Amino acid sequence: VGCGICVRKCPFGAISIINLPDELENPTHRYGKNGFALYGLPVPAVGKVTGLLGPNGIGKSTAVAILSGLLAPNLGRGASWEEVLHLTSGSALGDYLRRVVEKGVKTAYKPQYVDRIPKSFTGTVRALLERTDERGALSDLAERMNLLSLMDREISGLSGGELQRVAIVACAARDADVYFFDEISPYLDIYQRINAARAIGDLAETKAVMVVEHDLGLLDLLAENVHIVYGTPGAYGVITRPKGVRVGINQYIKGYLPEENIRIRSEPIVFEVHAPRAEKDVPLLAGYGSFTKKYSSFVLEAERGEIRRGEVVGILGPNGIGKTTYIKILAGAEVPTTGALDLKLKVSYKPQYLKAEADLAVEGFLRRISKEFDSSRYQSEFVKPLGIEKLLEQPMDELSGGELQRVAIVGCLSREADLYLLDEPSAHLDVEQRMMAAKVMRRFAESAERSVLVVDHDIYLIDLLSEKLMVFEGEAGKTGVAHPPVEMRAGMNRFLKGIGITFRRDEDTRRPRVNKPGSRLDRSQRESGEYYYYA
Ligand code: ADP
Ligand code: ADP
Ligand code: MG
Ligand code: MG
Repeated sequence: VGCGICVRKCPFGAISIINLPDELENPTHRYGKNGFALYGLPVPAVGKVTGLLGPNGIGKSTAVAILSGLLAPNLGRGASWEEVLHLTSGSALGDYLRRVVEKGVKTAYKPQYVDRIPKSFTGTVRALLERTDERGALSDLAERMNLLSLMDREISGLSGGELQRVAIVACAARDADVYFFDEISPYLDIYQRINAARAIGDLAETKAVMVVEHDLGLLDLLAENVHIVYGTPGAYGVITRPKGVRVGINQYIKGYLPEENIRIRSEPIVFEVHAPRAEKDVPLLAGYGSFTKKYSSFVLEAERGEIRRGEVVGILGPNGIGKTTYIKILAGAEVPTTGALDLKLKVSYKPQYLKAEADLAVEGFLRRISKEFDSSRYQSEFVKPLGIEKLLEQPMDELSGGELQRVAIVGCLSREADLYLLDEPSAHLDVEQRMMAAKVMRRFAESAERSVLVVDHDIYLIDLLSEKLMVFEGEAGKTGVAHPPVEMRAGMNRFLKGIGITFRRDEDTRRPRVNKPGSRLDRSQRESGEYYYYA
């Protein structure tokens, strides 16, 4: 493939044989003289959702800007489009880029940071969406994404999850050749993530769709192919050729890319399917009787439950159903309306919404929490795996969402306590940081024999972490029921039955995978009530 003269030196992953980064002489694009360099480009394909899988700061948005025609690739030396087209001619990427240059490719784009939308748009949801309705698909999309009741609301008054759904619909409603969704899952619960995945999957029947997504379970469901993007965030990124989604995610999890002969992580991520420990072997940490919490328009009913020493309990459920309320009550930050809760425990709590303390650098913040900061255990258990070293001197109130999240996780785990509560720790983290956070939390619970409760919507994170599961059910914004922590299998069966999907385990990596609805496995698992653990 390629033009024949320049196979070895060709800067495009699509035609060159990519080896070690040292051997990558010619980037596709470099920002400035010693700036970030990107190697390779993904190729959008009609009829497919193509995923980009990799950490932040590795060039995903740069690639998207090139494919949209917004950025001309300079090959690291101020090259012309002519040269780029020559180098790529004869390849699918070359054909695509030629179209970008000659006719223009119309792209629709869902930005990563939906929180910024109210800064650039004032008006109602309807006013925003009607401007994007270029192919008459708006009413269908708005219904599927549950936006109909929000149409007359002001954009400025929307929650993160509402903004995310509006942004997804705004992008999908356009009439474009290529659609880019820069993350789908932030602020959405699992039901909404699956809904969005289905709507985007339908869009891809006739269009080319690309997604960046850090929720691996969702990416697995959504994409047909993935390009893994690896390298050093902020320095360089390499985009691999497309891989089938199963193989690509498995390679990512194992940390080794055989075709490229590259190790992207020193250790694989391990999904353990552990047999439940016998209850009698695990001492009780605390029990609580049933309690309720009433707000003006919402009631939470918590059933009687027990938390055992050293166990990690995952908490799953839709948004607006009282998970945060429950956590706050355990933390003592809210009092129940009926039923008393006297845990007699020291609790360490990481809230869902983080506020940075001004005038304090990260190191000072962490030292104030724990005297252990200088110990090698603290450094190797928390600081290194969560990439805190580079942040130590930064003021807390200047951290990005993902940086603040990682510091808050460390802060929570390093406090002396009996019970640790973490409300949505994966928010704002990229895929690599999520996998690391799961490992850190799990190891902490095991080595320090601490009990940890984690609310999250990322099924892979919950699966990696938990040995027990609490499921919340009810009607968002009205009622919620907190079922007690139960063994993973029972909890997952209840949860997945509620969503109407079944999971199998990948033979190779043991990670969970959504079964195709109506497939043989899906039908037989439903019949036997085993929504989760079947082969
Ligand atoms: P990702 O989308 O994977 O998070 P980006 O493509 O946004 O990554 O950025 C990759 C790197 O390129 C980052 O280190 C970023 O700071 C740098 N970068 C992005 N845009 C520019 C620019 N316009 N000028 C200089 N550097 C940039
Ligand atoms: P989740 O964490 O499951 O998304 P929350 O516990 O945050 O749910 O909220 C459940 C419901 O309770 C929501 O409808 C929310 O608006 C309401 N709620 C939460 N806190 C308060 C409060 N302090 N006053 C009134 N209503 C509240
Ligand atoms: Mg980006
Ligand atoms: Mg919450």
